[in-house]
Amino acid sequence: MIDYASLIKDTTAYKTVLGDKASSRLSHAYLLVTADGNSLDEYLKIFAKLLLCQAQEPCGKCRACKLIDGGVHPDAYFYPKEKQNVTVDDVSEIIEETYLKPIESNKKLFVLSHGENLSLVVQNKLLKTLEEPPANVIILIGATVDFPLLSTVKSRVKRLEIPAFSQEKLINALKEDCPDLDKLANACAHAEGSVGKAIELYGDENIGKVTQFLSEMVLDMKSSANVLDFSIKLANEKIEILDLISAMQLFYRDMLSYLSGNEKVIVNKKNLDLIKKAQGYTLGSCVHILEKLTEAESRRRANANQQMLTEWLLFQVLEGKHKWLKL
Ligand SMILES: [Zn+2]
Repeated sequence: MIDYASLIKDTTAYKTVLGDKASSRLSHAYLLVTADGNSLDEYLKIFAKLLLCQAQEPCGKCRACKLIDGGVHPDAYFYPKEKQNVTVDDVSEIIEETYLKPIESNKKLFVLSHGENLSLVVQNKLLKTLEEPPANVIILIGATVDFPLLSTVKSRVKRLEIPAFSQEKLINALKEDCPDLDKLANACAHAEGSVGKAIELYGDENIGKVTQFLSEMVLDMKSSANVLDFSIKLANEKIEILDLISAMQLFYRDMLSYLSGNEKVIVNKKNLDLIKKAQGYTLGSCVHILEKLTEAESRRRANANQQMLTEWLLFQVLEGKHKWLKL
């Protein structure tokens, strides 16, 4: 099982609510923001347990935790029902329910997932409850971004943010579900701190091919005479150049950190071996290559021909190495 709880427990968001609970000062409304839309519901469930568990921290064993895990806690309402958006009828139901006493717990919890999809009508209808919440009612809204929310809504909720997680933390949380640790490390390095993205990348065969290609390019592409071979190889392996560009951006940023003596901030520790084996690079060449990668990315997005762009980019890598060799 993916260990979402271990990730969440270290966050300021979690500690904030835990502190609110400990001091009996729970807010009547929270907004949980995470860029990871795939994991949003899991995060909301952890916060629901934090809010309703009889123990201080979600224990997973008490009646409240078990009922929430089973999706049947009579005082915890989760919206939207099924996969649609929250409707006006849902909000009418919420408003009615807020006036009824809780059954199991001493509070009632209304969880609204994907708040970024809430229509203005729904938000306006919800606003009244946010403005004058009945006692013991907590509204928890989860969202991937908060700009679609009305400022009047935002001003009445306590904002919590789930940060991007480090590669180590992602690996730890996912290692049980993703047993190929090399593949997992690679996926987590490219996941931008997101559990959902790491899982997607882990299942993506492409990423192994891209890493292999990058490693061969760095070690074996010595002169312009090799460029055509490498660009043909990329085409044969059916690697999309944008995937290569993103792997190269990470690699050369890590190399830049390494060469400037900041080994600690290297994002993908697996890059370190390759960086140490790579020859002929200076800080100047890394900067040059990173600039060209940005240019290549926008050219590809503007539909530049992949084969020509690959050759151009590979020349730029060599150019970067040679031009800055003596500086
Ligand atoms: Zn519990």
